[in-house]
Amino acid sequence: MALFTDYQLNPDLMEGLLSMGYKQPTPIQEQAIPIILNKQDVIACAQTGTGKTAAFLLPIIHNILSSENRHLNTLIIAPTRELVLQIDQQIDGLAYFAGVSSIAVYGGNDGITWTNQKNALENGAEIVCATPGRLMALLQNGDIDFSGLQHLVLDEADRMLDMGFFDDIKSIIKHLPTKRQTILFSATMPPKMRQLAQQITNEPVSVNIAISKPAAGIKQLAYNVFNEQKDKLLDEILSNSEYQSVIIFSSTKDKVKDLERSFLRNKFNAKAFHSDLEQSEREAIMREFKSRRLRILIGTDILSRGIDVDGISLVVNYDVPPDPEDYIHRIGRTARAERTGVAITFINPKDQMRFLTIENLMGIEVEKPIIDESYGPVPAYNAEEIKKPKPPQKGNFKRKKFFKKK
Ligand code: AMP
Repeated sequence: MALFTDYQLNPDLMEGLLSMGYKQPTPIQEQAIPIILNKQDVIACAQTGTGKTAAFLLPIIHNILSSENRHLNTLIIAPTRELVLQIDQQIDGLAYFAGVSSIAVYGGNDGITWTNQKNALENGAEIVCATPGRLMALLQNGDIDFSGLQHLVLDEADRMLDMGFFDDIKSIIKHLPTKRQTILFSATMPPKMRQLAQQITNEPVSVNIAISKPAAGIKQLAYNVFNEQKDKLLDEILSNSEYQSVIIFSSTKDKVKDLERSFLRNKFNAKAFHSDLEQSEREAIMREFKSRRLRILIGTDILSRGIDVDGISLVVNYDVPPDPEDYIHRIGRTARAERTGVAITFINPKDQMRFLTIENLMGIEVEKPIIDESYGPVPAYNAEEIKKPKPPQKGNFKRKKFFKKK
């Protein structure tokens, strides 16, 4: 197992790292950091939640600190304002003691003028973190000198292509020096992505943190429902006595408690398992469940990792987990050790995109039976539609900290 001290990072950067509470590199960091420190191009396949942001920020900040040309040294392009801000916040944290400055440039509508935006880029921070549309507009209207650029990062590159930014990205790259280090992160690698990656990188090293695949014995089903339809559907599913041992997952503790109360009313043999319970209570519930005295266990994702109970016949996802790995862990509670099991997910309209991401990562489309007419109208399933790019917004930007923080 690697340690951060193995990389001999700048001491100020190490201090930032410790203050962020990172103790050990994650697998993607373990793979990517040495390659980026070695100034090689990288094509990395890794999802959100793997520590991918620090995997490129740490070596880049280290390189900047030992670089002579720090003005507009690094350009990070990411698909959304939220992601740009998240990356910028991580730079704030990691570079706090190193005094590396960054600006976040993204679309929006807070009325800050073009002149201010251009000035911010012209007077330059070391790292620019931008959405493609906004940056493209600035480049077309301003005189931004990227000739000293040393690092280009494309983060969540597949999402940028999905959102229709392929041409913008190619145009932006024309403004950058060809001699640079290019780092591309993507959750998936569809053919168009590979094509772009090959065009913009130079002898890249591939890094791959593969998502686990669900066991083959799991039959997965998903229902498109409105929230108000979930309880009735759950009752109907649980009335099937073939499901003798059931786990129901919900993302929130409150919902877990709600479900326990409603199951008590409906006389289902069910108990909630969550972090408010004493350790001894949790152990007692788990014993009941393992010995089949308890039929239904309801829990948050603390249940999804690690519990080792054989013979669970059904897993219900009352909602779609935000992290695809959690989905795999949740449904992996059934069909253990070569048995078969069923995993049913309820998708409300808000969760449709999330579920599509999970399907893309697993590389399968989950069967989606339509609920009976007696439930009333069901939501249309239009995750593909949601993915289409939204019209461009007027821009704003954030400028900050061109001074060394100590
Ligand atoms: P990301 O995949 O970059 O979105 O990171 C997911 C979360 O993991 C963020 O909250 C990071 O701050 C955190 N993180 C990144 N690297 C580490 C690490 N080595 N140890 C602990 N947490 C980390």
